Amino acid sequence: PCTDFDMAYFHSYAHVGIHEEMIKDRVRTETYRAAIMHHQQYIAGKVVLDVGCGTGILSIFCAQAGAKRVYAVDASDIAVQANEVVRANKLSDTVIVLHGRIEDVEIDEEVDVIISEWMGYMLLYESMLGSIITARDRWLKPGGLILPSDATLYIAPITQPDRYSESIEFWRNVYGIDMSAMLPLAKQCAFEEPSVETISGENVLTWPHVVKHVDCYTITRQELESVTTRFKFKSMMRAPFHGFAFWFDVEFSSPEIFSNDNNPPSSVIESPNEHPTNGSQRKKRVNPNEALVLSTAPEDPPTHWQQTLVYFYDPIEVEQDQQIEGAVTLSQSKENPRFMNIHLEYASGGRSFVKESVMR
Ligand code: SAH
Repeated sequence: PCTDFDMAYFHSYAHVGIHEEMIKDRVRTETYRAAIMHHQQYIAGKVVLDVGCGTGILSIFCAQAGAKRVYAVDASDIAVQANEVVRANKLSDTVIVLHGRIEDVEIDEEVDVIISEWMGYMLLYESMLGSIITARDRWLKPGGLILPSDATLYIAPITQPDRYSESIEFWRNVYGIDMSAMLPLAKQCAFEEPSVETISGENVLTWPHVVKHVDCYTITRQELESVTTRFKFKSMMRAPFHGFAFWFDVEFSSPEIFSNDNNPPSSVIESPNEHPTNGSQRKKRVNPNEALVLSTAPEDPPTHWQQTLVYFYDPIEVEQDQQIEGAVTLSQSKENPRFMNIHLEYASGGRSFVKESVMR
């Protein structure tokens, strides 16, 4: 059923600003276009389903790549504009805009390709991936293509002294007045909830850890209800440790099915953290020079997703090579399934901490 939460969520996509921000994100939009053109042989003459078409941009790219038919589905009122855009570009014979939830619309044929831009902040915020799973299980032909094919969420410890001094240290001396009494409130307001901001590679204390690898062909809704991982880092430098950053990448690779008795080619890469699937031998052949990746990592060109930061209320001084270990659990909020609870446990230098936050 379509809940009030869904209504509010779809309403937020009826505004032009959110689509403008996504489309102006050239890293995002151009990587999708490149992925569509790269997979043209899978798209030309085929039936495509665009889950959450927004303004229709990805559907139109697919039509330009020669798709026979594209179902462009969006529950938000932006679908009205998508339909106008399609018509104005004389693509109405190819692109069929359906205004409704993917969970509710009727499509009377199976599709060869599913494309979607479903990634939220920290990858899983918004919980839109569940709708791609629904579409996949209902309409994707066996052997069909899903773009993107894979997604990976990372976590890494960070140092962010500028942000800390700007929002916190600032209160120690305000026009010559000691306003340290403001510190507890300032810390709470600044760091209670996760924040979306851009950091650089220099803020990251060490290599990231994979929180979750998503194979879009096999992921289940159940797997997404709660994601837990343990981590162990060694700081590469001496620095105040302010919290953790999350970011993700998605990959656009083509499926290759290998039977049990085939020797997979040497270039087969098995994804990290992947659960062994019972008997299914879906592996991906990735030529590293060709693997198309949309990355939101701090060392890569910035995107509108930026990075998601969970700050501590107080920094921890870490030495070079000092261990940082702990665990993180991401789960759907009971308050609103579109929100995400972030439970972090961490220990370093003999002290341990817990931080709970909610991404709203
Ligand atoms: N594909 C567009 C828009 C991506 S934003 C682009 O790349 O620019 C995601 C869109 O998915 C939003 O417009 C949102 O309304 C839509 N959406 C999310 N969940 C959906 C669902 N279950 N059914 C239909 N549309 C959905």
